[in-house]
Amino acid sequence: MLNKSFVDVPADHPFPIQNLPYGVFSPRGQTPRCGVAIGDFVVDLAMLVNAGLLTHREVDLRSAFEAPSLNEFMAMGKPVWHDVRRRLQELLGEHTAVLRDDPSLRARAFHRRDSVEMHLPAQIGDFTDFYSSRQHATNVGTMFRDPANALLPNWLHIPVGYHGRSSSVVVSGTPIRRPLGQTKPADAPPVFGPCRLLDFELEVGFFTGPGNALGHAIPIEDARDHIFGLVLVNDWSARDIQKWEYVPLGPFLAKNFATTISPWVVPLEALEFCRVPTGTQEPEPLPYLQGDEEGLFDIKLDVAIRAPKMKAPHVVGRSNMRNLYWTMAQQLAHHSVGGCNVRPGDLMASGTISGSEPESYGSMLELAWRGTRPVKLPDGSERTFIQDGDSVVMTGYAQGDGFRIGFGEAEGTVVPAREG
Ligand code: MN
Repeated sequence: MLNKSFVDVPADHPFPIQNLPYGVFSPRGQTPRCGVAIGDFVVDLAMLVNAGLLTHREVDLRSAFEAPSLNEFMAMGKPVWHDVRRRLQELLGEHTAVLRDDPSLRARAFHRRDSVEMHLPAQIGDFTDFYSSRQHATNVGTMFRDPANALLPNWLHIPVGYHGRSSSVVVSGTPIRRPLGQTKPADAPPVFGPCRLLDFELEVGFFTGPGNALGHAIPIEDARDHIFGLVLVNDWSARDIQKWEYVPLGPFLAKNFATTISPWVVPLEALEFCRVPTGTQEPEPLPYLQGDEEGLFDIKLDVAIRAPKMKAPHVVGRSNMRNLYWTMAQQLAHHSVGGCNVRPGDLMASGTISGSEPESYGSMLELAWRGTRPVKLPDGSERTFIQDGDSVVMTGYAQGDGFRIGFGEAEGTVVPAREG
């Protein structure tokens, strides 16, 4: 892609013309609407529609982009996503004059990204979180069960997941209140109080497109057409609450207090160039999970901590989305195979993405190995879990030839628990 924009975007910037991630923003004092990011700007899509520059013969883009969420656009499906993206690349390209040479139009359509407020990109109907990194599942199994049988017998056959809570998914920058809950000290009755083992989980999630009718399934060969785009996800986790509650039905209050996502949804089409082969899956998955070759993505992922006195976040974990075992298409095929309907704007996350090296783990539980190997920060302090006042910052990008497809960041700062 030799595409270049009239907007100046440095080679290491997350939002070049090859990216054009979608988000929901409000210019100062105005209502939320849909936009795309390019360089340090947000382009107002509703404004482009109203100026007659962005139209589609089959769908009503005005209604879609004037909305305070991307759900309507997500429902329109891959052919429309493709057409709109191609038109935006044309409008923002260096050889197209209509915006480039019209300062007054540009002043209305472009907002500086640091001057707008970002919102959740979609009204999220349902949130599902998978558990698709083999290293992560192995690490957790090793710590809490038996190193020799770290993976449970179903793990290599089923893309394991749990149904999460969509009401508490928040956009980057939203403060995270330390949860209260029940924990169980060893050899003592359970107690109620603030979580003491607060953790992050470094994940990538995808928003779904048209979806399927109840009682039908999304076959794996169609699954990619139902993936609108990707965001960074921090699945905040209260490890002490989780330990006491998770048997027999899995995580509940340990996960439902907050999930942070990055505000910009990177279109799947912008990431096709960084697809990498699906890893070896042995034993062979059942037929409905087969056939997703090149189902993984070479996307670098960092998680960093900034303690209150630190100027910049310090990277504590470096992972990559290619470390996943199950692909997004397999997750979606599995999710729907029993007839569960997926709707536009549902969010499905990968599960903690851990690589094989200790510095590539995606949670404090693993990085500090259940509290036994504290992580040192540049201010001289140590962390085994996340403290009040700490900010957790996740970033990610795919490196192209002369450009980067970045995700921006998913940031959350922890504030003290409510008075119990
Ligand atoms: Mn998770």
